[in-house]
Amino acid sequence: MRPEPDSPYLADASGMRGCASEVLIPENEAALAQILRDATATNTPVTISGSGTGVTGGRVPDGGWLVSLERLNSIRIEKGFAVCGAGASLAAIQAAAAPTKQFYAPDPTENSASIGGTVSTNASGSRSFLYGDTRRHIRALRVVLANGEVLALRRGDKPTFEIPVLPAPDVKKNTAGYFMREGMDYMDLFIGADGTLGVVSEVEVTLLDTPKNLFTGVVFFDSDERALTAVDEWRPVAGLRMLEYVDKASLDVVRSRFPEIPAEAYVALMIEQDVSGSDDVEEAWLDRLETSGALTDDSWFAASATDRERFRRFRHGLAEAVNEIIRQRGLMKANSDFAVPLGKSRDILRLYRETLDREFPGQYVIFGHIGDAHVHINVLPPNKAEWERAMGLMKEFAAAAVAMGGTVSAEHGLGKRKRDYLKLQFTPDQIETMMGVKRRLDPQWLLGRGTLFEAPETIQ
Ligand SMILES: Cc1cc2nc3c(=O)[nH]c(=O)nc-3n(C[C@H](O)[C@H](O)[C@H](O)COP(=O)(O)OP(=O)(O)OC[C@H]3O[C@@H](n4cnc5c(N)ncnc54)[C@H](O)[C@@H]3O)c2cc1C
Repeated sequence: MRPEPDSPYLADASGMRGCASEVLIPENEAALAQILRDATATNTPVTISGSGTGVTGGRVPDGGWLVSLERLNSIRIEKGFAVCGAGASLAAIQAAAAPTKQFYAPDPTENSASIGGTVSTNASGSRSFLYGDTRRHIRALRVVLANGEVLALRRGDKPTFEIPVLPAPDVKKNTAGYFMREGMDYMDLFIGADGTLGVVSEVEVTLLDTPKNLFTGVVFFDSDERALTAVDEWRPVAGLRMLEYVDKASLDVVRSRFPEIPAEAYVALMIEQDVSGSDDVEEAWLDRLETSGALTDDSWFAASATDRERFRRFRHGLAEAVNEIIRQRGLMKANSDFAVPLGKSRDILRLYRETLDREFPGQYVIFGHIGDAHVHINVLPPNKAEWERAMGLMKEFAAAAVAMGGTVSAEHGLGKRKRDYLKLQFTPDQIETMMGVKRRLDPQWLLGRGTLFEAPETIQ
């Protein structure tokens, strides 16, 4: 079908909008392979779409065909793993796994995301503090290349051609550029490649046993310094699978929906610990809370799955509310996704605060995965001119993160909107090496054109 200019297929959650001559929705992998063969024969660029929850414009087409994988949504649950069509949503996978008392560990907050999209961005989210990024949970992939060839790749299968090694920052999460490491498996190349090297049609993921018991809370503090000290002290807590930061401005964004947020709260830390088999958990946390100077009596602790779901809505609602504010102003997101080595966490936060208090006072929020030294800034500028200024600042922050040994993208990928950041983290030669891999697998540069790299002039 030919999409209307306002078709939801032409945008993503960042507010970026593009254009396409066709939206194609294959029924199965064979139909997908045929579309790619046709694209190769007619030299038509193809952008792959999962659920469109990405925030960097990766699935936003810049002409050519948009291919949505929404119908490749089968799910088969087995003991210890699940085999899923790329279009299956994380929510559907979790719902199918739950009756078997298993779960899929990565939780990138937005559970309408497709498994194929999360593989392609190597998504992480809050629980990655314990379980790591998506890559760690992938056992096998089926990938259709631009020429229609289907690869069936399992963990342990090595690349069929030499892949040069590129440097990697010393951070807990990184998805900037292609994964090119010593001893890597072939499928690692496609994980985090943002839909530019091949189309993931099927994913086999590890399932873990659902923890028997979780300790979940939203702990409020009346000072940033106290909260940051608590983060440093709590990072080593065994079984802690979430350590999230929510600043005062973020709390104010969701306060009307959660009026029980204490008035004196300046920061919240969201925590979740797998406490299966542990004793005296509550006593241990009471001790920690007292030592850290938290607002213990006003903090929230989950006594049931319903409470845990309320906390999830609180965290997800915050990210959504911020996106909505920006959409209503007719702007795109002005956000960051930088991570730094753990020892630099306070330094980068200080830099963000000092700069933003000076440049955008009262017009920004900071929240996210502080356990992994990876918080998101969202600037909420009132108009396009101020938005441009905010984007300039983001680029300065990206450079600062790299100077601290960090990454320009921890979990969202760079897509089209942030592809220029690649040049801050990699030299021109290193980028050329990545482009060489792209040329090898997609010589006509059809897949995800404009994502990660500007297409070379020779093929534009
Ligand atoms: C409210 C909110 C909160 C979020 N929080 C987090 C978070 O905590 N952590 C996090 O990591 N992300 C987060 N995200 C971002 C987003 O959910 C992830 O980037 C997710 O991985 C995107 O999945 P999708 O199916 O929506 O992909 P899309 O947006 O459709 O596509 C993303 C990229 O993957 C490519 N792609 C999609 N499917 C395939 C495929 N089958 N084969 C090859 N390429 C493909 C696309 O071409 C594009 O480049 C959040 C988003 C929102 C809206």
